[in-house]
Amino acid sequence: MSGRSHRQSDPSILTPGVSQVLRQLGICVGVAAALATVFTAWTPASLRPGELVEQLAAAADRAGSGSPTSAANGGNAEADQHLKVGIVAGHSGLNKYTGLPDPGAVCADGLTELDVNAKIADLVVSGMEAAGIEADLLQEFDTRLTGYRAIALVSIHADACVPINDQATGYKVAAALDTSVPDRAQRLVTCLADRYAQATDLAYRPGSITRDMTEYHSFYEIHNQTPAAIIETGFLYLDRDFLSQHPDKAARGIAEGILCYINNEPATLPGEGEGP
Ligand SMILES: [Zn+2]
Repeated sequence: MSGRSHRQSDPSILTPGVSQVLRQLGICVGVAAALATVFTAWTPASLRPGELVEQLAAAADRAGSGSPTSAANGGNAEADQHLKVGIVAGHSGLNKYTGLPDPGAVCADGLTELDVNAKIADLVVSGMEAAGIEADLLQEFDTRLTGYRAIALVSIHADACVPINDQATGYKVAAALDTSVPDRAQRLVTCLADRYAQATDLAYRPGSITRDMTEYHSFYEIHNQTPAAIIETGFLYLDRDFLSQHPDKAARGIAEGILCYINNEPATLPGEGEGP
């Protein structure tokens, strides 16, 4: 039911403005409660108190070493900026080259990759914050990406919404080819792939990783000490039900992957084409 028809049929004594605010509050509370349910279940209870902070500080130290700015200001102000992760909602914002909105892959009925990416990215950011880690929600061509420094950057995308073949299902994760921190970027990939497999029923498809992924434009914009990965969360055609109905599971896999990386938890790359 639309808000307009509701208002017409409801002989409420509240002014439209107040009832609208109440309705929005109701919606907000509902979303917050749902998020709390989703994310409290997997906040890392095994974490020793202070361990996460130690890891973050160590990561920030490594990221900040050798930086002239860091040396000039004693390191504190800049180090603080590294105690966070960056989450790119793929295709959000205006395309830098066309100046136009960019929906990414589009399904015949209008469902877009941007819809799916944005929902998952929002949930990942909420999950990181629920775990006590600051997270920046970034647009595809966000100006903040230039020289971006963080513990990790993850860009969230989904694959084509056209029938290709019966193998066009599953997810991929790739690191930048051109990075100064290949070991850390690979660890991030391993953690993301492992935890995404655990959180979803999707198959891992490393064999079909493309240059679009490994040479993803943001990888060249960010600071070369920021480990970065791009995840294709599934194919919009064959994995549509999962992507549109379970963005929480996809987000959980990604957020747990980032936590795995930050906490240096054990992880292994799933076998190709295998489910969890
Ligand atoms: Zn995309």
